[in-house]
Amino acid sequence: SKTLIWFRQDLRVNDNPALHQAALDGEVVAIFVEAQKQRKQHHESSAKVGLIYDSLLELRAALNELNIPLHIQCCDYFDDQIETIKAFVDDNGISAVYFNNEYPINELERDATLKSVLEGMNVEVNRFDGDLALEPNLVKNKQGDPYKVFTPYKKAWINVHKQSPFEPLKPPEKQSYSIKEQATEDFPAEYREDLWPAGESAAYERLDKFLSKVESYKKTRDIPSVSGTSCLSPYLAIGAISAKQCMHALLEYYDGDEEKLYGDTWFSELVWREFYRQVLIDNPELTKHKPFNPDAAEVWADNQEAFEAWKEGKTGFPIIDAAMRQLNQTGWMHNRLRMNAAMFLNKLCLVDWRWGEKYFMESLIDGDFASNNGGWQWCSSTGADGAPYFRIMSPLSQSERFDPDGDFIRKLVPELKDLDKKSIHNPSSEQREKTGYPEPIINYKESRKRALELLG
Ligand code: FAD
Repeated sequence: SKTLIWFRQDLRVNDNPALHQAALDGEVVAIFVEAQKQRKQHHESSAKVGLIYDSLLELRAALNELNIPLHIQCCDYFDDQIETIKAFVDDNGISAVYFNNEYPINELERDATLKSVLEGMNVEVNRFDGDLALEPNLVKNKQGDPYKVFTPYKKAWINVHKQSPFEPLKPPEKQSYSIKEQATEDFPAEYREDLWPAGESAAYERLDKFLSKVESYKKTRDIPSVSGTSCLSPYLAIGAISAKQCMHALLEYYDGDEEKLYGDTWFSELVWREFYRQVLIDNPELTKHKPFNPDAAEVWADNQEAFEAWKEGKTGFPIIDAAMRQLNQTGWMHNRLRMNAAMFLNKLCLVDWRWGEKYFMESLIDGDFASNNGGWQWCSSTGADGAPYFRIMSPLSQSERFDPDGDFIRKLVPELKDLDKKSIHNPSSEQREKTGYPEPIINYKESRKRALELLG
C-alpha cells in the first residue's frame, strides 16, 4: 500500500515518528505544502520562510537517498492545504496519511478537518507528537491538572523522564521502490544564509560545536558579545532538529549520567520550550491574543512613536538599540536582550505586548508561537510563571552588567564605537549630538514609577 508523510514543522529524517511509521507501513511518498497567505496571517518572517525552503531542498536530497520522493507545493491558506492533500491522496492511491502534530489552534482545527475528510474517503490518518521531547499531557500535577509554574513542571518532567527515558528514532530504512516523479513549486526568500546554513546536517554541526562548550553555558549565556548559546532555535523552530535529539546528545555528552543532564542549565532551557508548548496545549485561547492571566492589568498606551523608535533601534538606549538592530540585521536576538527589549517596550513605554510579539514574529528566523508568546507574556507579567509586575529591567544597569566593555553595543551601534566603556552605556548629550545618536525617548526613572503605579 502507499503511504503519505506530510512534512510541516519537522523537516528532518532523523527522530521523525510520522516519517518512521509511514515508511514501515508502505511505499512512502512525502509532501510539503507551503500555505503562503496563511503564514503571512500568522506574521511569520520571510527569513523563516527562506530557511524552510532551503532546508526542504536539503531534506529532499536526504529523502531521495532513501528512495523517498518529496513533492513541494504551494497554496494560500490552511483550507487549501487540505484540498491539496486530498487531491494528492486521490490522484496517487494513498491509503494512509501520517503527520506530526502542531499545537496552535488554527493548526489543530485544520488537522481535525483533514482527518474527517480523509476518513470519509476511507483513508487512514496517523498522528504523532514529534515536536516535544516528552509526549504532551504526561507532565501533570498529582490532581492531574496542568502546571502553571515552571520549577515544579520541570521537577515533574524529570520524574516522567526517569520512568520512561527516550531514544531518538533512526531515519527510515532505504526503500526498495524507485522515485518516479517529484513536483516542485519554488518559494525561496531572503535570509542571512551566512549565519544560518540550512538543513538538518547544519543543525547537527551546530549542536556538536555547542556541546564542546556546553559546560561554560551557565557562565556565558547572558553575555551577548560572546557566542555562549547554541543558536539552535531556528532549527528547532522548523524541526530540522528535535528537542529530544538535543537532550539525548547532552545525555551522551555526560556519558549517560542522568543526574548531570538534569542539573544542566542548557537542559533547563529546553524544558522551558516544553513548558511553553504544554501551556499552549492547555490554553488554546492564547492563540487568540488573550493574556494567560485574565486579571492582568491592561494599561497600554497607543504610543506609535515609541513603537517605531523601538523597531528601528533608535530609542536612545544603546543596549536596546543594539538588540533591535541585531534582530533586524540577523533575524535573531540574544535571550537576555529579548527580555530587555520586551520589558522596555511594554513596561517602560507602556506599549501593548501584543505589538511587540507581532513584530518579533515578523522579524525572527526562529519565530515560534509558543515560545514567543510565552516570552512576551513572561516579560509583561501576564503569563504562566511570569516575572512579577515590579520586575522591570533597567536598560542602563543591564547594559553595564551584561555588556561591561560595551563590545556588543560597539558592534551593533557603530556610531558609538569610539566611546569609552563607561559612557557607551549612556552617552552624554554632547556625545549624542556629535555622533548623531538620538536622545532617550523616555525618562527611565519616571517611566518606571508610572509602570509600577499602573501595573501594581
Ligand atoms: P539556547 O540558550 O542555546 O537554548 C536552547 C534552546 O532552548 C533554544 O534554541 C530554544 O529552543 C529553547 N529555549 C531557550 N530559552 C527558552 C525560553 N526562554 N523559552 C522557550 N524556549 C527556550 N524562542 C524561540 O525559539 N522562538 C521565539 O519566537 C522566541 N521568542 C521569544 C520572545 C521573548 C520576548 C523572549 C524573552 C524569549 C523568546 N524566545 C523565543 C526564547 C529564547 O530567547 C530563544 O529560544 C533563545 O534566545 C534562542 O537562542 P539559542 O538557540 O541560542 O538558545
